[in-house]
Order: sequence, then C-alpha cells, then structure tokens
Amino acid sequence: MSESELKPARTRYAPSPTGRTHLGNLRTALFAWLWARHTHGQFILRIEDTDRERLVEGAQEELMDALRWLGLTWDEGPDMANGRRYVQSYNLARYHEIVAQLLDSGRAYYCDCSPERLEIVRRTQQARGQKPRYDNHCRARALGAAENRVVRFAMPERGETLVHDLLRGTIRFENADHGDPIILKSDGYPTYHLASVVDDHDMRITHVIRADEWLPSTPIHVNLYAALGWQAPHFVHLPLVTDHERRKIKKRSDADQSAEYAEYAEMLRVATLRQRGYLPQAVFNFLAFLGWHPGTTEELMTPEEIVARFTLDRLSTSSAVFDVDRLNWFNQQHMKRLSNAELSALLVPYLQDAYPESARLADAAWCEALTAAVRDELVALSDVVEAARFAFEAPQTFTAEALAVLQNEAAPVALSALSAALPQTAQLTRAEAEATLKSVRDQLKQAHGLSGKQVLLPIRVALTGKIGGAHLTDILALLSVAELRERLQRALSKAPTA
Ligand code: GLU
Repeated sequence: MSESELKPARTRYAPSPTGRTHLGNLRTALFAWLWARHTHGQFILRIEDTDRERLVEGAQEELMDALRWLGLTWDEGPDMANGRRYVQSYNLARYHEIVAQLLDSGRAYYCDCSPERLEIVRRTQQARGQKPRYDNHCRARALGAAENRVVRFAMPERGETLVHDLLRGTIRFENADHGDPIILKSDGYPTYHLASVVDDHDMRITHVIRADEWLPSTPIHVNLYAALGWQAPHFVHLPLVTDHERRKIKKRSDADQSAEYAEYAEMLRVATLRQRGYLPQAVFNFLAFLGWHPGTTEELMTPEEIVARFTLDRLSTSSAVFDVDRLNWFNQQHMKRLSNAELSALLVPYLQDAYPESARLADAAWCEALTAAVRDELVALSDVVEAARFAFEAPQTFTAEALAVLQNEAAPVALSALSAALPQTAQLTRAEAEATLKSVRDQLKQAHGLSGKQVLLPIRVALTGKIGGAHLTDILALLSVAELRERLQRALSKAPTA
C-alpha cells in the first residue's frame, strides 16, 4: 500500500435496514472498521433507508446490536449527537439541493416514462440481443417538475469510465452499456446512488469498502463525483461471502429451502450465534479470515492483533465460503484460551436458564469444577446444558446402548462395589473420588478378573445415563455422596440380580 493509504482513514458501514443481519453483512462492516482502526482513523455507521418499500421493522436495532456485540464501535452514527445526519431519510433536503444543482448544470433531467414504456424498451432490446438499459428517451425533452416524474442523471454516452479499485486495480466500463440512472424517485426519496455519493462526500469518507455486488454501480458513482466536481474516495470491493453451494448469502430466506439448508442459514444469523453461545472474539477472528490473511500461517488472533496486522493488500480477491466447521473450530480455540473461572462465568447463565432450581450454581468453586469437567465437550457455550446434565438430574431414561451396559453381568458387581466403597462423607474431593475408583477397580480385578472398562462403564451409565462424557473422577466429585448412592441403587434395579 502506498503512503497515502496510511493516513487516518474515514470508513463507513452503510447498511440498508431491509432484512436480518447475517455474517456476510458483518464481514463487510468488520473490514471497514479494521481499516479505520488500523490507520487510527474513524468508522462511521450510516443507515441507508431510502428504499421505503423494503424497510424491515427492527432491522436497524438488530444491526446496531450485532455491531456492538462484535466490538465494532463507531465514532459517528445514528445514536450519537447529530444522529439524524446518519440516517438518510432525515436528510432529504440535502439530496434535493444536489439534485437541483445537477438539474441546473444540465447533468440531470426529469423523466416521465411509464413502467409500460420501459417494459417495451426492455423487451425490444432483449429481442435484439442487446443489454437492457434505459434508452435516455427523456434526456432531450426538457421536461419540468411534475407529479410522478423522476430525475435521471445524464451519464456520458460514449467512451469508458474507469474505476480504480485498491483491491482489483483499474476496471473499465463501457459507457454505452449504461442507461441514465434514476437519482430521485417520484416519492421524493433519492436512490442509493445519489444518497451514498452525497453522504460519502459530505462525511469525508476516504475509503468506500463494500461488497462487490456494488461494483457495477461504481461507474455511476464515479461520474456523479465528476459531475459535482468532487474527488471520489478510494474504492475497495470485497469478494462475496457465499454459502457452501457457492451462492450469495441473502438477508431473506427462500421458502423452498431444505431443513438442512435452513439450519445452515440459521447459523449465518448473528442472533442465532449469540443465542447458541459463540464468543464474539471467535466470530471476529473467523470473519476476519473470510477474505483476509495475516501473511503468515497464524490463525488464532485477538481483535487487537488483527487490528495491528490488518492491511488492504492482504485481502483476497476470490469469494470466501462460510464454513460452519471452521467457525466451530475458532470458537473452540477461543474457549480454550479462557481460564476455568472466565469460562464458568459465561456458562453459568445458560445453566441457570436450564436448571433454575439448582442451588449449587451459587457455588463458584463447584461451577468452576463443573466447567473443568465438561469444557472439552463444548462447541458453543449453550452445549453446556447437555454436557452438564448429569450434575443436575439423575438419568431419566437410558438409551438401548446404555441399558445393554447395565444388563451385562459385570454391572451389578461394579455398582455394588462402588456403593460399598463410598466413604461416609457428604461430598468426595477429587482425590477421594480417584482413590475410591481405583480401589474398586483393583478389588474387582483381583476378585473377578474384571477389566477397567467392565467396571467403569456401568458406573458411568448409572451416574449419567450415557456412554461418553466427562471423566468419571470429575463426575464422582461433582455429585453429592447421597446422590451417588441413589443413582447407583436406581441403576442396580435395572441390572440383572447378582
Ligand atoms: N446500502 C447499501 C447496502 O445495503 C450500501 C452499499 C455501499 O456500501 O455503498 O449494502
């Protein structure tokens, strides 16, 4: 990157509140934010709500919430002083002023073409094998303002428009391919093209970092800047984030999707990830690597490390697939970095929700011991509810596989031996739990020639109802001795009589 790009940048994220926030949107916001923070510049949040028909209630709040959760703080935005300036629908007067200026200078004109006429033009062009475009019919008609008229921007009709993109280099667009675009709609609202150019100029945005679906619109913007005598910002068009079928991720879901795809699409929603207990620093790390790399093989990084290393020349030019397994991997790795106490503090709310009656959740030391026992089994925080179930509930049912273990003839021997070996205390320490299990194993090996598995598996099933899970020592040390006895008795009733 050249020197000039290392000046403090002013970047923006300019979402339209027209759907639910998904990770593709957040990835765009993240890259714009990273560049602002890396250069010690400013990040601006601007709400582009001029498409009144597609507004979705609550979308703006959801979006701001998602940005906050990920730590993408903004320096200017709708919730701050002068906040209305950052919501386009409050700034119509400014757009009208610019439209008037373009009309005066002859770079814009009124158009009254009906949808029917435009449809005929489109069909005729298609029949001739031409690209559909507005035929600039009203350009020479010198219409004045009237109801139901839109304003169009007069694009150059010949030659090329060059778009300089920091990531993709110079891209050439044939001007003949573009019909004159609408800049002011008949409802008095500007279109995206005009409003975003005016705001990017007024807000002194230095780098427009956005998804590459906007690249085809950029020649319009470049010509608007020129017509207004303004200097265009730098452009960076980010490659798409796609689903595993390499399709663009959408804000709205299709009605015809399969249950499997619906589950996958659900994982793209920020609200879902928060609910399932993905760590924001893990999602941050995962998203940063969707289209950027630090130039080394490192993958696990904190937000601060990524800010320090983020440069635009390490952005990728090809699309990135949203891979749930990879997200899970990042989450597990970031969970590993937390101490038992830190992780426990995050897990307890999920446990409180699931087991509101449990008094033991007030015991921090016990919660930490439970965390240590189950943490390796978790992909996301909410998984703790299932992984730690044994600590709150006696097994209600046994799977066929678990029942088979209890019905093996070694089971009653092992369960009775442990029951007899339990000391007369209320609660075993971990060391006591370990010693008790060892003595039962040694004893049954000598007396009955039973293997470790023959002894330990039925005990595990009796205590948890499951074949796998936390270490048996931990399980013993987490349950009270009374609870251990009760569960062993209950399982014995299902075992063949010894
Ligand atoms: N409002 C546009 C969107 O929703 C923003 C495009 C841009 O960043 O220029 O994606």
